[in-house]
Amino acid sequence: MGKPFTFRDRLVNWASRRMPVKWARSRLTGPVASITFDDFPRSAWTAGGPIVERFGGRATYFTAGRFCGIREEGIDYYDADDLRALHAAGHEVGSHTYFHQHVPEVRSSELLADARRNADFVRGILGEVELSSFAFPFGDVSPRTKLLFSRLYPCCRGIRPGINAGLLDLGQLWAVSLEVRHWTAERIEQQVAEAKARNGWIVFFTHDVSETPAPYGSTPAILEHALRTVTEAGIEVLPVRDALRRATA
Ligand SMILES: [Zn+2]
Repeated sequence: MGKPFTFRDRLVNWASRRMPVKWARSRLTGPVASITFDDFPRSAWTAGGPIVERFGGRATYFTAGRFCGIREEGIDYYDADDLRALHAAGHEVGSHTYFHQHVPEVRSSELLADARRNADFVRGILGEVELSSFAFPFGDVSPRTKLLFSRLYPCCRGIRPGINAGLLDLGQLWAVSLEVRHWTAERIEQQVAEAKARNGWIVFFTHDVSETPAPYGSTPAILEHALRTVTEAGIEVLPVRDALRRATA
């Protein structure tokens, strides 16, 4: 899901990219990849999950509580059973806020209450689990919210394009879009080659997985292409939580 950025949005996002709030020197001795699904549409689990597992990986599902069990703009979202099933299968449940707002426009006190609400929502379904990673709704970041969320979670993922290598900014990890509206095979293959060359961490993101995806989603073939490209390059696919552990061990 997205929105057209205003000039002010671009300026705030530009400033945020240049303001690392959580440096960590990568300890990776080999490249690693993560597949992440935001919001998340039900098909990210029912169609996307089996594809990730077929390549021996596990994914990260960035979950926003407000989408649970609903249908919106023609998309069916996950329900509580989906969350239980993917958690039991070893996939990671990350946080994506409860209300899925443009967080730079929301007061810090409200964002903290929202973060607690999403954690309570997930624990109400899964029991005592730690939400060990976070993704910014719409990829929308400001210096204030970057600081706030990087204190709440071990790492946060944005949508600015790139590979995480060398000095990592855990407050806003670089990411690679698998959304059909941006996708070309060449771009993915270049990014994977860069991750391999730099012993980097490549974090893919998308939403639904369908033969007729939303502009923000992927076809099964797009997801398979990314997984085939990384596994043929000898790159292991790990949830964000596990890749972070390896990168900072
Ligand atoms: Zn989202």
